[in-house]
Amino acid sequence: MKKIQSLRFKYLYAIVFLVMLLVGSSLFLQKKAQASWGFWAHQRINRLAVFTLPPEMIKFYKKNIEYVTEHAIDPDKRRYASKGEAPRHYIDIDHYGVYPFDSLPRQWDEAVEKYTEDTLNAYGIAPWNIERFTRKLTRAFEEKNTRRILQLSADLGHYIGDGHVPLHTTKNYNGQLTNQKGIHGFWESRLPELFGDDYDYWVGKAQYLDNINEYTWKFILESASAVDSVLAMERQVTAEFDTDQKYCYEQRGVITMKTYCEDFSARYGELMDGMVERRMRKAVLSVGSFWFTAWVNAGQPDLDTIEEWELSQKEEEKDKALEKLFKEGAIKGREHGN
Ligand SMILES: [Zn+2]
Repeated sequence: MKKIQSLRFKYLYAIVFLVMLLVGSSLFLQKKAQASWGFWAHQRINRLAVFTLPPEMIKFYKKNIEYVTEHAIDPDKRRYASKGEAPRHYIDIDHYGVYPFDSLPRQWDEAVEKYTEDTLNAYGIAPWNIERFTRKLTRAFEEKNTRRILQLSADLGHYIGDGHVPLHTTKNYNGQLTNQKGIHGFWESRLPELFGDDYDYWVGKAQYLDNINEYTWKFILESASAVDSVLAMERQVTAEFDTDQKYCYEQRGVITMKTYCEDFSARYGELMDGMVERRMRKAVLSVGSFWFTAWVNAGQPDLDTIEEWELSQKEEEKDKALEKLFKEGAIKGREHGN
Protein backbone atom coordinates (compact mmCIF):
# COMPACT_ATOMS: atom_id res chain seq x y z
CA MET A 1 0.00 0.00 0.00
CA LYS A 2 2.72 2.42 1.03
CA LYS A 3 4.63 1.55 -2.08
CA ILE A 4 1.67 2.40 -4.31
CA GLN A 5 1.22 5.71 -2.54
CA SER A 6 4.83 6.70 -2.99
CA LEU A 7 4.51 5.68 -6.62
CA ARG A 8 1.53 7.99 -6.94
CA PHE A 9 3.57 10.80 -5.44
CA LYS A 10 6.28 10.07 -7.91
CA TYR A 11 3.78 10.48 -10.75
CA LEU A 12 2.55 13.70 -9.21
CA TYR A 13 6.09 15.02 -8.99
CA ALA A 14 6.73 14.01 -12.56
CA ILE A 15 3.62 15.85 -13.75
CA VAL A 16 4.45 18.98 -11.74
CA PHE A 17 7.96 18.86 -13.11
CA LEU A 18 6.71 18.51 -16.69
CA VAL A 19 4.33 21.44 -16.30
CA MET A 20 7.12 23.57 -14.89
CA LEU A 21 9.32 22.58 -17.78
CA LEU A 22 6.65 23.50 -20.30
CA VAL A 23 5.93 26.87 -18.71
CA GLY A 24 9.64 27.57 -18.42
CA SER A 25 10.42 26.68 -22.01
CA SER A 26 7.51 28.67 -23.39
CA LEU A 27 8.70 31.73 -21.46
CA PHE A 28 12.14 31.15 -22.80
CA LEU A 29 10.87 30.77 -26.36
CA GLN A 30 8.84 33.91 -26.03
CA LYS A 31 11.92 35.85 -25.01
CA LYS A 32 13.86 34.45 -27.90
CA ALA A 33 11.13 35.18 -30.42
CA GLN A 34 10.95 38.80 -29.28
CA ALA A 35 14.69 39.21 -29.37
CA SER A 36 14.87 37.82 -32.89
CA TRP A 37 12.45 40.34 -34.34
CA GLY A 38 14.91 42.78 -35.75
CA PHE A 39 17.11 40.19 -37.29
CA TRP A 40 15.28 39.62 -40.52
CA ALA A 41 16.21 42.99 -41.99
CA HIS A 42 19.87 42.84 -40.92
CA GLN A 43 20.33 39.47 -42.54
CA ARG A 44 18.54 40.55 -45.68
CA ILE A 45 20.67 43.71 -45.99
CA ASN A 46 24.00 41.87 -45.69
CA ARG A 47 22.86 39.18 -48.11
CA LEU A 48 21.69 41.61 -50.77
CA ALA A 49 24.78 43.80 -50.42
CA VAL A 50 26.77 40.92 -51.92
CA PHE A 51 25.00 41.42 -55.25
CA THR A 52 26.11 45.05 -55.53
CA LEU A 53 29.79 44.06 -55.66
CA PRO A 54 32.08 44.16 -58.73
CA PRO A 55 33.20 40.94 -60.46
CA GLU A 56 36.53 40.91 -58.59
CA MET A 57 34.71 40.64 -55.27
CA ILE A 58 31.41 38.97 -55.91
CA LYS A 59 32.70 35.41 -56.32
CA PHE A 60 34.37 35.45 -52.93
CA TYR A 61 31.34 36.97 -51.19
CA LYS A 62 28.90 34.64 -52.91
CA LYS A 63 30.92 31.68 -51.72
CA ASN A 64 30.59 33.01 -48.19
CA ILE A 65 27.11 34.47 -48.48
CA GLU A 66 25.67 32.21 -45.79
CA TYR A 67 28.32 33.40 -43.36
CA VAL A 68 27.80 37.14 -43.93
CA THR A 69 24.04 36.61 -43.76
CA GLU A 70 23.94 34.50 -40.64
CA HIS A 71 26.50 36.62 -38.81
CA ALA A 72 24.79 39.91 -39.66
CA ILE A 73 23.35 39.75 -36.15
CA ASP A 74 26.53 38.99 -34.21
CA PRO A 75 26.92 42.58 -32.98
CA ASP A 76 23.45 42.39 -31.41
CA LYS A 77 24.33 39.12 -29.74
CA ARG A 78 27.49 40.70 -28.37
CA ARG A 79 25.39 43.24 -26.51
CA TYR A 80 24.61 40.42 -24.12
CA ALA A 81 28.28 39.65 -23.57
CA SER A 82 30.05 42.97 -23.48
CA LYS A 83 29.19 46.33 -21.99
CA GLY A 84 31.08 48.31 -24.61
CA GLU A 85 29.00 46.92 -27.44
CA ALA A 86 25.68 48.75 -27.01
CA PRO A 87 26.79 52.34 -27.85
CA ARG A 88 28.14 51.21 -31.21
CA HIS A 89 24.59 50.68 -32.46
CA TYR A 90 23.16 54.16 -32.04
CA ILE A 91 23.75 57.85 -31.51
CA ASP A 92 21.32 60.00 -29.54
CA ILE A 93 22.22 62.90 -31.74
CA ASP A 94 19.44 65.11 -30.37
CA HIS A 95 21.41 65.27 -27.15
CA TYR A 96 23.68 67.70 -29.00
CA GLY A 97 21.04 70.22 -30.04
CA VAL A 98 18.87 70.42 -33.12
CA TYR A 99 19.29 69.36 -36.74
CA PRO A 100 21.87 69.46 -38.33
CA PHE A 101 23.67 69.30 -34.97
CA ASP A 102 26.52 71.53 -36.08
CA SER A 103 27.94 71.80 -32.59
CA LEU A 104 28.90 68.12 -32.67
CA PRO A 105 32.29 67.65 -34.36
CA ARG A 106 32.16 64.90 -37.01
CA GLN A 107 35.75 63.81 -36.30
CA TRP A 108 36.21 61.52 -33.31
CA ASP A 109 39.24 63.29 -31.81
CA GLU A 110 37.57 66.69 -31.97
CA ALA A 111 34.35 65.29 -30.54
CA VAL A 112 36.26 63.67 -27.66
CA GLU A 113 38.02 66.93 -26.96
CA LYS A 114 34.79 68.85 -26.87
CA TYR A 115 32.54 66.39 -25.03
CA THR A 116 34.86 63.70 -23.50
CA GLU A 117 34.86 60.05 -24.44
CA ASP A 118 32.53 59.17 -21.55
CA THR A 119 29.83 61.48 -22.86
CA LEU A 120 30.17 60.20 -26.41
CA ASN A 121 29.89 56.64 -25.16
CA ALA A 122 26.88 57.51 -23.05
CA TYR A 123 24.96 58.84 -26.06
CA GLY A 124 26.22 56.38 -28.64
CA ILE A 125 29.11 56.27 -31.07
CA ALA A 126 27.49 54.77 -34.20
CA PRO A 127 29.08 56.97 -36.91
CA TRP A 128 32.61 56.83 -35.52
CA ASN A 129 32.34 53.12 -34.94
CA ILE A 130 31.45 52.60 -38.61
CA GLU A 131 34.60 54.47 -39.60
CA ARG A 132 36.64 52.36 -37.21
CA PHE A 133 35.28 49.09 -38.55
CA THR A 134 35.90 50.23 -42.13
CA ARG A 135 39.56 50.77 -41.24
CA LYS A 136 39.67 47.34 -39.63
CA LEU A 137 38.16 45.75 -42.72
CA THR A 138 40.67 47.55 -44.93
CA ARG A 139 43.48 46.09 -42.82
CA ALA A 140 42.00 42.62 -43.07
CA PHE A 141 41.95 42.95 -46.87
CA GLU A 142 45.56 44.14 -46.84
CA GLU A 143 46.52 41.09 -44.81
CA LYS A 144 44.33 38.86 -46.97
CA ASN A 145 42.97 37.43 -43.75
CA THR A 146 39.86 35.56 -44.86
CA ARG A 147 38.47 35.03 -41.39
CA ARG A 148 38.77 38.71 -40.46
CA ILE A 149 37.43 39.88 -43.82
CA LEU A 150 34.27 37.86 -43.35
CA GLN A 151 33.75 38.65 -39.69
CA LEU A 152 34.32 42.36 -40.21
CA SER A 153 32.17 42.49 -43.34
CA ALA A 154 29.30 40.94 -41.38
CA ASP A 155 29.83 43.30 -38.41
CA LEU A 156 30.22 46.43 -40.51
CA GLY A 157 27.07 45.53 -42.46
CA HIS A 158 25.17 45.41 -39.18
CA TYR A 159 26.39 48.78 -37.91
CA ILE A 160 25.71 50.47 -41.25
CA GLY A 161 22.24 48.93 -41.28
CA ASP A 162 21.55 50.36 -37.80
CA GLY A 163 22.71 53.80 -38.91
CA HIS A 164 19.98 53.88 -41.56
CA VAL A 165 17.21 53.45 -38.98
CA PRO A 166 15.81 56.79 -37.78
CA LEU A 167 15.14 55.53 -34.26
CA HIS A 168 18.83 54.66 -33.86
CA THR A 169 19.59 58.39 -33.88
CA THR A 170 17.45 59.72 -31.04
CA LYS A 171 17.08 59.73 -27.26
CA ASN A 172 13.45 58.79 -27.83
CA TYR A 173 14.58 55.57 -29.48
CA ASN A 174 11.59 53.50 -28.46
CA GLY A 175 8.99 56.23 -28.24
CA GLN A 176 9.37 55.98 -24.47
CA LEU A 177 9.36 59.79 -24.08
CA THR A 178 6.18 60.30 -26.09
CA ASN A 179 4.03 57.41 -24.94
CA GLN A 180 4.74 55.37 -28.08
CA LYS A 181 6.64 52.52 -26.50
CA GLY A 182 7.29 49.68 -28.90
CA ILE A 183 7.70 51.83 -32.00
CA HIS A 184 11.34 50.85 -32.40
CA GLY A 185 10.58 47.21 -33.14
CA PHE A 186 7.45 48.24 -34.99
CA TRP A 187 9.42 50.30 -37.50
CA GLU A 188 12.53 48.20 -37.97
CA SER A 189 11.15 44.70 -37.46
CA ARG A 190 7.41 44.39 -37.78
CA LEU A 191 7.08 46.45 -40.98
CA PRO A 192 9.93 44.81 -42.93
CA GLU A 193 8.81 41.39 -41.76
CA LEU A 194 5.28 42.01 -42.97
CA PHE A 195 6.02 43.83 -46.20
CA GLY A 196 9.75 43.42 -46.87
CA ASP A 197 9.33 40.58 -49.33
CA ASP A 198 7.60 42.99 -51.69
CA TYR A 199 10.28 45.67 -51.52
CA ASP A 200 12.33 46.37 -54.61
CA TYR A 201 15.93 45.59 -53.76
CA TRP A 202 17.49 46.39 -57.10
CA VAL A 203 19.86 49.09 -55.92
CA GLY A 204 22.58 49.07 -58.57
CA LYS A 205 26.31 48.77 -58.13
CA ALA A 206 28.43 49.47 -55.08
CA GLN A 207 30.15 52.85 -55.30
CA TYR A 208 33.60 53.91 -54.24
CA LEU A 209 33.32 56.32 -51.31
CA ASP A 210 35.89 59.12 -51.43
CA ASN A 211 35.13 60.23 -47.92
CA ILE A 212 33.88 57.62 -45.47
CA ASN A 213 33.37 60.16 -42.69
CA GLU A 214 31.26 62.47 -44.82
CA TYR A 215 29.19 59.67 -46.32
CA THR A 216 28.49 58.16 -42.89
CA TRP A 217 27.35 61.45 -41.39
CA LYS A 218 25.13 62.01 -44.37
CA PHE A 219 23.09 58.87 -43.81
CA ILE A 220 23.08 59.39 -40.04
CA LEU A 221 21.64 62.87 -40.56
CA GLU A 222 19.09 61.53 -43.06
CA SER A 223 17.99 59.09 -40.37
CA ALA A 224 17.84 61.83 -37.76
CA SER A 225 15.77 64.08 -39.99
CA ALA A 226 13.15 61.33 -40.38
CA VAL A 227 12.61 60.83 -36.64
CA ASP A 228 9.83 63.41 -36.34
CA SER A 229 7.82 61.82 -39.18
CA VAL A 230 8.34 58.32 -37.79
CA LEU A 231 6.83 59.41 -34.48
CA ALA A 232 4.16 61.78 -35.79
CA MET A 233 2.74 59.28 -38.24
CA GLU A 234 2.46 56.58 -35.62
CA ARG A 235 0.51 59.05 -33.48
CA GLN A 236 -1.75 59.78 -36.43
CA VAL A 237 -2.50 56.11 -37.09
CA THR A 238 -3.07 55.53 -33.37
CA ALA A 239 -5.67 58.31 -33.45
CA GLU A 240 -7.39 56.68 -36.43
CA PHE A 241 -7.65 53.19 -34.91
CA ASP A 242 -9.28 51.82 -31.77
CA THR A 243 -6.83 50.28 -29.30
CA ASP A 244 -8.09 46.78 -30.01
CA GLN A 245 -7.36 47.41 -33.68
CA LYS A 246 -3.85 48.57 -32.88
CA TYR A 247 -2.60 45.51 -31.02
CA CYS A 248 -3.31 41.95 -32.09
CA TYR A 249 -2.30 38.53 -30.84
CA GLU A 250 -0.39 36.31 -33.19
CA GLN A 251 0.50 32.69 -32.89
CA ARG A 252 4.20 31.98 -33.42
CA GLY A 253 4.75 28.27 -33.01
CA VAL A 254 3.46 27.48 -29.53
CA ILE A 255 3.58 31.08 -28.40
CA THR A 256 0.95 33.79 -28.54
CA MET A 257 2.49 37.21 -29.02
CA LYS A 258 1.12 40.70 -28.73
CA THR A 259 2.06 42.75 -31.74
CA TYR A 260 0.88 45.60 -33.97
CA CYS A 261 -2.09 44.49 -36.11
CA GLU A 262 -1.57 44.04 -39.82
CA ASP A 263 -4.09 46.70 -40.88
CA PHE A 264 -2.59 49.15 -38.45
CA SER A 265 0.89 48.34 -39.77
CA ALA A 266 -0.24 48.68 -43.38
CA ARG A 267 -1.76 52.10 -42.68
CA TYR A 268 1.45 53.24 -40.97
CA GLY A 269 3.49 52.00 -43.91
CA GLU A 270 1.16 53.80 -46.30
CA LEU A 271 1.51 57.10 -44.41
CA MET A 272 5.29 56.82 -44.42
CA ASP A 273 5.12 56.35 -48.16
CA GLY A 274 7.82 53.71 -48.54
CA MET A 275 10.25 55.09 -45.95
CA VAL A 276 11.21 51.68 -44.55
CA GLU A 277 11.81 50.36 -48.06
CA ARG A 278 13.88 53.42 -49.01
CA ARG A 279 16.06 53.14 -45.90
CA MET A 280 16.56 49.43 -46.41
CA ARG A 281 17.51 49.92 -50.05
CA LYS A 282 19.92 52.65 -49.09
CA ALA A 283 21.40 50.41 -46.41
CA VAL A 284 22.01 47.61 -48.93
CA LEU A 285 23.81 49.98 -51.28
CA SER A 286 25.80 51.52 -48.43
CA VAL A 287 26.97 48.16 -47.09
CA GLY A 288 28.14 47.07 -50.56
CA SER A 289 29.85 50.42 -51.06
CA PHE A 290 31.71 50.23 -47.74
CA TRP A 291 32.94 46.69 -48.46
CA PHE A 292 34.02 47.77 -51.93
CA THR A 293 35.77 50.91 -50.66
CA ALA A 294 37.68 48.97 -48.00
CA TRP A 295 38.84 46.52 -50.66
CA VAL A 296 39.96 49.29 -53.05
CA ASN A 297 41.76 51.14 -50.25
CA ALA A 298 43.60 47.92 -49.41
CA GLY A 299 45.01 47.85 -52.94
CA GLN A 300 42.40 45.51 -54.48
CA PRO A 301 43.85 42.19 -53.27
CA ASP A 302 43.08 39.16 -55.42
CA LEU A 303 40.18 37.41 -53.73
CA ASP A 304 40.13 34.49 -56.18
CA THR A 305 43.35 33.12 -54.76
CA ILE A 306 42.65 33.94 -51.13
CA GLU A 307 42.79 31.11 -48.62
CA GLU A 308 39.52 29.41 -47.79
CA TRP A 309 38.36 29.48 -44.24
CA GLU A 310 35.94 27.56 -42.11
CA LEU A 311 35.06 28.06 -38.48
CA SER A 312 37.44 26.12 -36.25
CA GLN A 313 36.00 24.04 -33.46
CA LYS A 314 37.07 26.65 -30.96
CA GLU A 315 35.35 29.40 -32.91
CA GLU A 316 32.22 27.33 -33.20
CA GLU A 317 32.22 26.88 -29.45
CA LYS A 318 32.62 30.63 -29.02
CA ASP A 319 29.67 31.17 -31.35
CA LYS A 320 27.59 28.78 -29.31
CA ALA A 321 28.55 30.45 -26.03
CA LEU A 322 27.51 33.84 -27.45
CA GLU A 323 24.24 32.38 -28.68
CA LYS A 324 23.59 30.96 -25.22
CA LEU A 325 24.25 34.28 -23.50
CA PHE A 326 22.03 36.01 -25.99
CA LYS A 327 19.14 33.61 -25.40
CA GLU A 328 19.35 33.70 -21.64
CA GLY A 329 20.94 36.94 -20.68
CA ALA A 330 20.05 40.51 -20.15
CA ILE A 331 21.54 43.16 -22.38
CA LYS A 332 24.55 44.89 -20.92
CA GLY A 333 23.88 48.54 -21.48
CA ARG A 334 20.83 50.08 -23.05
CA GLU A 335 17.81 47.99 -23.95
CA HIS A 336 17.80 49.26 -27.49
CA GLY A 337 16.17 47.74 -30.48
CA ASN A 338 18.41 45.86 -32.83
ZN1 LIG B 1 22.23 46.72 -33.77
